[in-house]
Amino acid sequence: MINIAIDGPAGAGKSTIAKAVSKELGFVYVDTGAMYRAIGIYLSRLGIDPSDEAAIDNAMPGATVDIKYIDGAQRVFLGEEDVTGLLRTEEAGNMASSVSRFSSVRTKLTQLQKDLAVKQNVVMDGRDIGSAVLPNAEVKIYLTASEQARGERRYKELTEKGEKADLNTIIADIAARDHQDMTREISPLVQAEDAILLDSSDMNIEEVINAVLGICRTKGVID
Ligand code: C5P
Repeated sequence: MINIAIDGPAGAGKSTIAKAVSKELGFVYVDTGAMYRAIGIYLSRLGIDPSDEAAIDNAMPGATVDIKYIDGAQRVFLGEEDVTGLLRTEEAGNMASSVSRFSSVRTKLTQLQKDLAVKQNVVMDGRDIGSAVLPNAEVKIYLTASEQARGERRYKELTEKGEKADLNTIIADIAARDHQDMTREISPLVQAEDAILLDSSDMNIEEVINAVLGICRTKGVID
């Protein structure tokens, strides 16, 4: 099976790019952040404090996260419930970042991610895919952009949806989440040694997609 790993900080456009590249290649897109977000929701519904490791360890055996593909799109299930529509809020992202530092959470989700990658060709995005989940991935990309560029994109996305947003607050939130993800003890966000750095600060979506496809070609993964 061919595995393409795309890691990088919050708001770098990983899911947009991974989705487009997987479509182009006919691979399955696996959004691992969505799994951490689902666990965040699961724990928050139980009223568990996101810094209470003992309570999280106790609760994790009861968590059932499942990934299903409906009309080609990834849906995330908590037990029988499709929670996909609840995942893309700032609150779910922050909750995910807080609980993703604990080993009981990471062990469970890492196994699920590895299982998905052995049975099909995948483009998987996250924070530790090239460094920990799929260390033998054929292609590893570290997709980043300046905090300013990532903040501006997020600001545009929110205001276009008619939501109120403050650019400085967004940039501060992005910086705080990156700090938390980069400084945790287990599988922190790092550029894997053999990952190719792609800085998209001055690139549009089309250019980034083409750059990733170009890297796949260079690596001999596609013609
Ligand atoms: O990518 P996304 O913003 O959906 O990720 C939410 C959070 O989940 C991240 O901030 C990070 O803490 C965690 N995460 C992780 N490892 C991954 C993917 C996401 O720790 N592979």
